[in-house]
Amino acid sequence: MIPLPANSELLAGLDSSLMQPIDEHHLLHQQVLPAFAALTAAMAEDGIILKVASAWRSFERQARIWQAKCAGLRPVYDSEQQIVDMTKRHGLAKLEAIMLYSALPGASRHHWGTELDIYDAAAVPADYQPQLLPAEYASGGPFYKLAWWLECHAAEYGFFLPYKRYQGGVAAEPWHISYQPLAKPYQAAFSLALLQNTLSNNPIAEQQSVLQHLPALYSRFITNICEA
Ligand SMILES: [Zn+2]
Repeated sequence: MIPLPANSELLAGLDSSLMQPIDEHHLLHQQVLPAFAALTAAMAEDGIILKVASAWRSFERQARIWQAKCAGLRPVYDSEQQIVDMTKRHGLAKLEAIMLYSALPGASRHHWGTELDIYDAAAVPADYQPQLLPAEYASGGPFYKLAWWLECHAAEYGFFLPYKRYQGGVAAEPWHISYQPLAKPYQAAFSLALLQNTLSNNPIAEQQSVLQHLPALYSRFITNICEA
């Protein structure tokens, strides 16, 4: 596969032209579809029904999540899964609290169409709503088998876990997988200047504070991933 070159609009979640539906609710980059199909089939052989909680996400969607968290309209959790009182957080501390679990609009890897948040529908009742919490994927949780399967086999299909461990930036996300052959060149094409440009042209909540702290946030939360 020769990766299709990424333009800045695609990297920022402002261009969905290369995205294709994988089910009723989710889009994925067209170059990820064969690997995603192979991954799904291999998991099915081991009794795992791969379901997608999130795939491609637009800048606009990420900006709505960001806005709701900044305004305290959507819960923000700390590393112990306790709700953070956002009325007591200001400036950089407020941004850091949100970015533990939510990417800055324009800087989510989900914008690239190479990322998926997944769970195992075979492990839970049909009406189960996955929370995407670490306990669900840990020993004793319903998706532990999926997490273990990914540990053993994800790389065989080109996928890796960029948030496998907490490294001082984004929290560990055992549900988030990335298609490395495409995500790697996209990550290389991404830059602080591109993000600054995106946000300057598309203002978000806490815009001033975000721009002021952007270099620090960039190195702590955006480039700081667990490499494949
Ligand atoms: Zn994710």
